[in-house]
Amino acid sequence: MKVPKVVNIFGKEYKIITKERLEHEGYDALGLIYLDEGEIYLSTEQSLESLKRTLLHELFHGVVDRLGLHNVGFSEDAEEVLVEGLAVFITENFEFSFHKK
Ligand SMILES: [Zn+2]
Repeated sequence: MKVPKVVNIFGKEYKIITKERLEHEGYDALGLIYLDEGEIYLSTEQSLESLKRTLLHELFHGVVDRLGLHNVGFSEDAEEVLVEGLAVFITENFEFSFHKK
């Protein structure tokens, strides 16, 4: 799978940056999203299947943010469960590719 360089979520562009190793607060991470900066980081130290799931997971965090769900009381715990659930559901049931950029 060719990872896109840019993804558009409801009018906001997010750059996708791959790195060999990612760290977040002292722990290894597979993916990270910086909502304000519009940046998504992906670790290349994971299988293709894991990479797809991680990318979807981070993109769904972007979708939740763009939909403004935090402003209507959607908790971070609920968000984590939802975005991971959607990412697993999609990777287990669909093949996907990116059509732009
Ligand atoms: Zn997450």
